[in-house]
Amino acid sequence: MQAAEYIGDKKFRMVEGSRVSPGEGEVCIQVGYVGICGTDMHIYHGVMDGRVKPPKTIGHEMSGTVVEVGAGVSDYVVGDRVVVRPLDYCGECPACTAGHSHVCHNLKFMGIDSPGAMQNFWTVKARTLHRLPKSISLEKGALIEPLAVACHDISRSRLSEGEKAVVIGGGPIGQLVAQVAKSVGADVLISEVNAARRDFAEKTGINAIDPLAEDLHESVKTWTQGKGADVVFEVSGVQPAIDAMTQIAAVRGRICVVAIHSQKPQVDLFQFFWKELEMVGARVYEAADFDMAIELVEQGHVDLDPFISSISDLGEVETAFASMDNNPEGMKALVRCGEEAHHA
Ligand SMILES: [Zn+2]
Ligand SMILES: [Zn+2]
Repeated sequence: MQAAEYIGDKKFRMVEGSRVSPGEGEVCIQVGYVGICGTDMHIYHGVMDGRVKPPKTIGHEMSGTVVEVGAGVSDYVVGDRVVVRPLDYCGECPACTAGHSHVCHNLKFMGIDSPGAMQNFWTVKARTLHRLPKSISLEKGALIEPLAVACHDISRSRLSEGEKAVVIGGGPIGQLVAQVAKSVGADVLISEVNAARRDFAEKTGINAIDPLAEDLHESVKTWTQGKGADVVFEVSGVQPAIDAMTQIAAVRGRICVVAIHSQKPQVDLFQFFWKELEMVGARVYEAADFDMAIELVEQGHVDLDPFISSISDLGEVETAFASMDNNPEGMKALVRCGEEAHHA
């Protein structure tokens, strides 16, 4: 069995691993495709080495087929096509006992804190699985995880039909947030400085504006007849977006912070008082978000095809990462980890 290992400093090596046979409550998956995400790019740049502890097999956006089932697993059988919700939670802390295991005090993220999916076979707990319907290809299946992130953001923002939402930042997650927002019947506008990403938005049915060429505050005012945006999604992680989000939100508007800010940005709290704004954080996803993501794709409400920028083989993983480095045009690079398992 082949596994790709991140060894630090933008380098990977292929190693001959051994397939881990599933213990109680576990399954072994033949990996289909693994997507490269922003977090993986951070790992590639070495800024997470302290947490990742290379050499390590990374990758957490994946699809695959169950090839072996451990004792006590009754929900899945060999041949089931699945995606993994890559969260390993303790089940005992206050967050877990309150039903919020996705923000467990002891949360381990699979593919970062433990080995990930960039290998031929991945053995995981059956409780992390979601079944992939036949109508969704394994290629698209690898994008269910980032789509579930977007579903969680929509759910945290309580965005509803007929509302107007602004998404600040048109990277892969921002674009997926816009797609899910559209699918719930909201009017969506993306604010994005990169022309290629604005084109991507327009081609997938989302209006986009360049905040460097147009005044975002004024444009949103005009678009909403002076009201402001019902919901603002901050998906860019930069200070100008933090300044804009409080400006463009309507009275009693909701701001959903999706971006991971490594510095502490300056937030205009006066606007929170003046307009009775509300701000919610959104981290990863819950099981229901995966279910919603799968349903949106199955029913054709979100088309994931345009999001697949490239597909490389596992042995070319280093090249796949390099191709996504400083490439704002790339949405999602997939790594093909094995053929879909066939069985009688
Ligand atoms: Zn990710
Ligand atoms: Zn916990």
